[in-house]
Amino acid sequence: MEQSRTQKHTVVLVPLPLQGHMTPMLQLGSILYSKGFSIVVAHSEFRPPNPLNHPEFIFHPLSDGLSAPMEDYMVQLMEDQKLQGHQVSCIIYDSHLCFVDSVATHLNIPGIILRPDMAVYMLAFRYICQLEAENRIPFPESRLLDPVPELDPLRFKDLPHPITKEIPEWIMDFFASSVNIRSSVAIILNTTDCLEHSTLSRLQQCYKVPCFPIAPLHKLGAAATSTSFLEEDQRCIHWLEKQPSNSVLYISLGSIACVNEQELTETAWGLANSGIPFIWVLRSDSMDGSQLEDNFPEGVKALLGERGLIVKWVPQKKVLAHSAVGGFWSHCGWNSTIESICEGVPMICRPHFADQLSNARYLTYEWKVGLEIENVLDRGSIEKSIRRLMVDAEGKEMRQRMSVMKDKLEAGLQKGGSSYESLNDLTEFISQLPS
Ligand code: UDP
Repeated sequence: MEQSRTQKHTVVLVPLPLQGHMTPMLQLGSILYSKGFSIVVAHSEFRPPNPLNHPEFIFHPLSDGLSAPMEDYMVQLMEDQKLQGHQVSCIIYDSHLCFVDSVATHLNIPGIILRPDMAVYMLAFRYICQLEAENRIPFPESRLLDPVPELDPLRFKDLPHPITKEIPEWIMDFFASSVNIRSSVAIILNTTDCLEHSTLSRLQQCYKVPCFPIAPLHKLGAAATSTSFLEEDQRCIHWLEKQPSNSVLYISLGSIACVNEQELTETAWGLANSGIPFIWVLRSDSMDGSQLEDNFPEGVKALLGERGLIVKWVPQKKVLAHSAVGGFWSHCGWNSTIESICEGVPMICRPHFADQLSNARYLTYEWKVGLEIENVLDRGSIEKSIRRLMVDAEGKEMRQRMSVMKDKLEAGLQKGGSSYESLNDLTEFISQLPS
């Protein structure tokens, strides 16, 4: 691209230190770097990104009380850049980091929001605020399965927070601040037109600033670069090499969701009884307070190595891209969801909270590429669900539909495709921002 037009432009990224938020921000940084922008990452000292994975970026840790250190740093950075004939074009910040907006406004630098989730999730936040304003919370339990009129295909039970009881004020404040874009001049969304065409139009009507849906980000930037906080265990790839095509179920609940002791045991037995090979990611904090090894059933331990692999953290995108992987049991975090779609892997959906509920609704009901295990986990229903996905005709049909979705996402990345064009529009937009 027009590198000469962008190379004097510096973009400052301010990520939230959670895996599902850090990843899309760094991926966006890689993409903008490839377009010729200089990238500065201003991050919290808590859970910093690994600078070794991105030698092309400048990293700057912000000490506690992020707002004042951020402003001091920005003043210094702007002076340095000016001396070099460069300019700070904008600050791209995570939608939850409202303090960045006041720094940007104060210093007269354009701020751009990055939403790491589906567009419908932002509308769902707005809808909860509307319900609260209309005094409709607590909402009747008997109506939870009703469709939300403005948010088809979501039901009231798929909204970001349970609504049958009063929602604490601080949570409502959080929702309200999340949908308020303050003085931001644009919104970048980790989604695409082919997944959310009508929702994106609705969102664009709600916000008068330009919205740039660009996804999958990892297919546009440096795909091989790790963005993980935890060390990735590469041995699982060698293990996968020995497994037949589409035979392995990959299980991960992302970086936050946990299981309790009973769920762990039931899942282990469900896996054992299904007869299906598996890779199961169990972080050391996957079960509150206990040593996972102590809780693992002896009968299941016997399967490990040959039929099953338990690991603390894997290079997930590589695992999903491996031909041996035929299914993904997921908590339905948005990054995991879009990574699975990208590789055409159908899913077992076990959402825990937040956008995982609405993502699962899209996967199971709208796109029909996943099946949900609802209610209490028991070994019988787990075994049945695994076999439905991995063995039955139903699972094969889901894989075919996933493959069609994968093709659509790929088409969007080609010249003329929606994400390709949206990225070009964003590049143009940033390079023309007033300094
Ligand atoms: N991930 C990974 N290795 C693992 C498990 C997860 O690299 O063993 C990555 C996964 O590829 C995804 C991110 O962690 O990019 C999890 O983000 P997601 O939005 O799916 O869920 P969250 O962690 O925010 O709940």
